[in-house]
Amino acid sequence: MVDFEIPKSHPRYMSLIMREKLVEGFRKGIVVPQGLIAHGRGEAFDYILGEKSHTFALRAEEAVAAYLLASKHPVISVNGNYAALAAEEIRELQRVSGAIVEVNIFYRTEERVRKIYEHLLDHGVERVLPPDCDKVRVPGLESPRGIVCKDGIARADFVLLAIEDGDRTEALAGWGKRVAAIDLNPFSRTAQKAHITVVDEAVRATVNISKFVEELRGASIERLRSIISSYDNQRILKDAFRTMLENLSRASNQGIL
Ligand code: ATP
Repeated sequence: MVDFEIPKSHPRYMSLIMREKLVEGFRKGIVVPQGLIAHGRGEAFDYILGEKSHTFALRAEEAVAAYLLASKHPVISVNGNYAALAAEEIRELQRVSGAIVEVNIFYRTEERVRKIYEHLLDHGVERVLPPDCDKVRVPGLESPRGIVCKDGIARADFVLLAIEDGDRTEALAGWGKRVAAIDLNPFSRTAQKAHITVVDEAVRATVNISKFVEELRGASIERLRSIISSYDNQRILKDAFRTMLENLSRASNQGIL
């Protein structure tokens, strides 16, 4: 797995482990080189956020949990980076929510879809749609990046995405899906186009969403609907930007975060 032992005492232990997971995913053909670049971009934003789940992230994560429980056909869309980083956390989220999992990737080859699918199965993830599912195309998305499963994203009323490209997020929203996106960059088109933007690191976010699903599992549909209807994504994005601004302002005044 990892070429050398990362000492647990290393102050950036978790961050180094995540990098190793991605490198391993790259070697196995799950992660594309562009995914490694995307990860670096996410890390930069996570630094500015202090590498923690802020209140604006928790509010969005609670709303995602409410959608997962209240929707008729919720789907967790998994790409190479998300699978490499968070397969175990996705297993837990699927288990508590019962949602369908679909492998859906931007740089699509059938071989990579199969490898991600097998990686998820190896980690015990259930209800993953098989690579040979019946397929349809997302309206407006030409090329293989627009292919989705008929019984998965095509039928979904709610889709949870992570580390996703803006074009595809926009196309899914334009197709009438409620879309939640985990994305550390609130400037990205994904963050701006999603109905629910979880500005948090994908592994932390997935763990938090599972906890909220467990908390809300016995809640009435009225309570779930009230969480959904009172959720305001513009406010969440503003809070994320404000927190970044405050952290940068503190750092520029004091020389530290
Ligand atoms: P967009 O197309 O949405 O404008 P982009 O060109 O950055 O943005 P991608 O590279 O496909 O699109 O998206 C990757 C996004 O995921 C980036 O915004 C990056 O900040 C974010 N990201 C990377 N790693 C993580 C992670 N571990 N957790 C959450 N977000 C992440």
